[in-house]
Amino acid sequence: MAHLLVAGGSLGGLMAANLAARAGHTVTVLERVAGPMTGRGAGIITHPALEEGLRRCGMARDFALGIPVAGRVTLDGEGRELGAMDLPQVLTSWSRLYQLLHGLLPQLPQIEYRQGVAVQSVEQAGDRVRLRTSAGTFEGDLLVAADGIRSAVRQQYWPGVQPEYAGYVAWRGLVDEAVLSRGAHEAIFERFGFCLPPGEQMLGYPVAGPGNGTRPGERSWNFVWYRPAPAPGRLQQLLTDADGVLHAQGIPPNKVSWREVAAMRADGRRLLAPAFAEVVEKCAQPFLQPIHDFISPSIVQGRVALLGDAAFVARPHVGMGVTKAMQDALALADALRDHGATPQALQAYSDQRVPASRAVVLRSRRLGAYMQACGRDGNTAQPRDALAVMAETAIDPDQANFSEETPHERTATQTIA
Ligand SMILES: Cc1cc2nc3c(=O)[nH]c(=O)nc-3n(C[C@H](O)[C@H](O)[C@H](O)COP(=O)(O)OP(=O)(O)OC[C@H]3O[C@@H](n4cnc5c(N)ncnc54)[C@H](O)[C@@H]3O)c2cc1C
Repeated sequence: MAHLLVAGGSLGGLMAANLAARAGHTVTVLERVAGPMTGRGAGIITHPALEEGLRRCGMARDFALGIPVAGRVTLDGEGRELGAMDLPQVLTSWSRLYQLLHGLLPQLPQIEYRQGVAVQSVEQAGDRVRLRTSAGTFEGDLLVAADGIRSAVRQQYWPGVQPEYAGYVAWRGLVDEAVLSRGAHEAIFERFGFCLPPGEQMLGYPVAGPGNGTRPGERSWNFVWYRPAPAPGRLQQLLTDADGVLHAQGIPPNKVSWREVAAMRADGRRLLAPAFAEVVEKCAQPFLQPIHDFISPSIVQGRVALLGDAAFVARPHVGMGVTKAMQDALALADALRDHGATPQALQAYSDQRVPASRAVVLRSRRLGAYMQACGRDGNTAQPRDALAVMAETAIDPDQANFSEETPHERTATQTIA
């Protein structure tokens, strides 16, 4: 059996380590963040492939992944229902998933999970991989780089592969169920809700609340509001804190300028259905994420493989980030089983995952382009079809029967051209 090094101890790193350890390998996970990892991220959409993968990671058959909703609803700016559909789905949160995966570590003594260790560079010599880190050198048979969108390992081997800014940001946040009015609760809380101001998209859904509570009254509502922010001007403004400091690589939640938060809330009152406006008003700390994506031509170099967001990032409209990381981890585990801990195994992993991940990124770009084009600059000639948006957002492409180009995508392409 082999020794695997895993760079990054978030969801992707934990999935890969778990599955390798269950196959009998020993694993050292190196995570840059020291101390508790809770309090990161917000809502996560799940798909059946994620749930099935978590069972392969050792979760009980009836484990509680998150909060089930029965369907979706779209409201107009006045709060009137534009459409609704049945679409059962389970919504969860980053911290719930981290709690589940991290909670399995005591069952797996083959995994050493080390925090406060930053991976700096990689060397491959013969059939060994050597990692230079802030805590010294580590050696293993293979390296799995699950170190996220700005992966240090990807920068070393593929410096030309850089995240591309999509031209819009997502305002995100959570609000406790208990503080919402009855009207807002009835309008959206138990559903996956949408609101479609021109060229923008607001969506949200219930997730586990503070302390991962999933019972009624203990939950939170997670919102994601996509808004245009052309680079460099408007994007830089948003990434600049109230003291004038620019956070070009991403602004921490507590640094987002109070002036921008106030302006966003005022826009919410003007553009969104009252229930959504209330959510953004009552969210104590909205945060901001510029939307990026990228496609990697290759994700394997000898004994080094990229996984999760280090390998590919799709825009969040497909809601596939975590499921894609799980699909990577499962494909890697199968390749190690079939070929041993060898470069051939990593090549088989890459052959499977590069085309599949590429298709997910392209689909998310089409959904993003449709959102940006419709109703933009007062162009109300192309109002979005609420049913199409609800039917196609955050659906696993493998689970849905889409034609490659749906009618509304053709419209979007024509509008953009
Ligand atoms: C607006 C938005 C909405 C989203 N919504 C969804 C959704 O609904 N559903 C969904 O599935 N996904 C969603 N995602 C994506 C999802 O959050 C990620 O795809 C997922 O968390 C990928 O996990 P990962 O482990 O690959 O990377 P990450 O979670 O980024 O983890 C990388 C880890 O590596 C560590 N690290 C980084 N550099 C080093 C280093 N040099 N040495 C050691 N450690 C290092 C980091 O500290 C981090 O813990 C969304 C993303 C955005 C921006």
